[in-house]
Amino acid sequence: MTDIQSYIKHIEELDKQYLWHPFTQMKDWDDEKPVIITGARGSFLKDVTGKWYIDGVSSLWVSVHGHRKTEIDNAIKDQIDKISHSTLLGLAHPPAAVLAEKLIKMIRKSLADGRSKLSRVFYSDNGSTAVEIGLKMAFQYWRLKGVKSKKTFMSLQNAYHGDTLGAVSVGGIDIFHQVFSPLLFPVYQAPSPYCYRCEFGKKYPACRFFCLQAMEKIVQKHHKKIAALIIEPLVQGAGGMIVAPQGYLKGVRKLCSKYDILMIADEVATGFGRTGKMFAGEHEGVQPDILCLAKGITGGYLPLAATITSEEIYSAFLGEYTELKTFFHGHTYTGNQLGCAAAIANLELLEKENTIRRMQRKIGIFAKELDRIREFSHAGDVRQKGFMVGIELVKDKKTKAPYKLEDRIGWKVCYRAREKGVLIRPLGNVVVMMPPLSVSAAELKSLVRTAAEAIQDVTEQPFS
Ligand code: PLP
Repeated sequence: MTDIQSYIKHIEELDKQYLWHPFTQMKDWDDEKPVIITGARGSFLKDVTGKWYIDGVSSLWVSVHGHRKTEIDNAIKDQIDKISHSTLLGLAHPPAAVLAEKLIKMIRKSLADGRSKLSRVFYSDNGSTAVEIGLKMAFQYWRLKGVKSKKTFMSLQNAYHGDTLGAVSVGGIDIFHQVFSPLLFPVYQAPSPYCYRCEFGKKYPACRFFCLQAMEKIVQKHHKKIAALIIEPLVQGAGGMIVAPQGYLKGVRKLCSKYDILMIADEVATGFGRTGKMFAGEHEGVQPDILCLAKGITGGYLPLAATITSEEIYSAFLGEYTELKTFFHGHTYTGNQLGCAAAIANLELLEKENTIRRMQRKIGIFAKELDRIREFSHAGDVRQKGFMVGIELVKDKKTKAPYKLEDRIGWKVCYRAREKGVLIRPLGNVVVMMPPLSVSAAELKSLVRTAAEAIQDVTEQPFS
């Protein structure tokens, strides 16, 4: 056995003996040979054997400018030379303050034609905490205003807002969330704008947003009890890259305003250019009352999140110390200095490199490449919004009959793609692609073509 082979064996043994991987059936994991990542550059990841793979899901939807981007690398190194972490509880630091201004200015430019009300940044360290904070902020806001009846939320079927219990309570993916149901607080659930499998059997646009009408019926009846509605704007990511039809988001905003319900936009996945605009709300000129950001905020380098709200909500929490209006929430690594330094570099690059403008052509290339997959006999629905893509595989295209759980079709396609040098991850029967925004046109074509081959290889084979 060579040195490298024994090193690989050693790491694999340690992994299998001591680790518990997220969202992973460890019984299967133990039977598999893991890909051990040891390096990266741009849109590629390298494994311990030296094999390179296209990072087809941006290392779980986070990488913006690709891996080992000099400016972000240097920003972190420079910050390490000063300090890596100090608390924001009772202390200030430059990266947190500078980043907060940059975020607010970026949001102003993107949302609501520069007239965004969003003005206050509350940091945490991942998407789930950003959501928890948004929910708690909304809840306490109404308490502070003396509206005690508003103590629940509205969310959507197929929603995913993270894995902590508050975030799971507003989640709507049974396969993930059902087991925890005895622990969750009740919420009102609106239908998902899932046109391919419309639960009302309608077709867009003839439906005239029937799902919104159904949402309004619930809201009309219960709005006095609803503190906030939480939504993934335009794309329900983990629910299967479900793209809402144009106008839906604006309709949701209107309902929230009409019935005095706060709107929480969970842009953890859609933020920072993923949908082809800086923030998804920009597509429809919609600004929320509370905005949750994470994932791409540091360009995919470090865990950092932000929950951003308006001066109106913020000021409701102001009062004498003894009034206990304080927002009693915080995490140890809230606003970590390294994370903020990486995020500042990420935001500067987004502007300096005109990343969003430059990705527009690539969005077109992506669409054109996907068109070929649309013809496949098992590609039921091919959904795309910018760089967020989901291909829903079906057993029968005519009847839309889904593959069974035990078919593990998405997993098989991704496994085949991996053999061919592309790393993608499924969401059940949906094959997801979400490359870094910096991906080149050639890399993008290679990603889609390899995924297409993998789909053909797996779905056109006699099925076992
Ligand atoms: N919200 C949305 C829309 C997400 O897609 C995710 C993660 O995929 C989260 C929240 C949770 O983020 P995290 O995994 O960082 O807790």
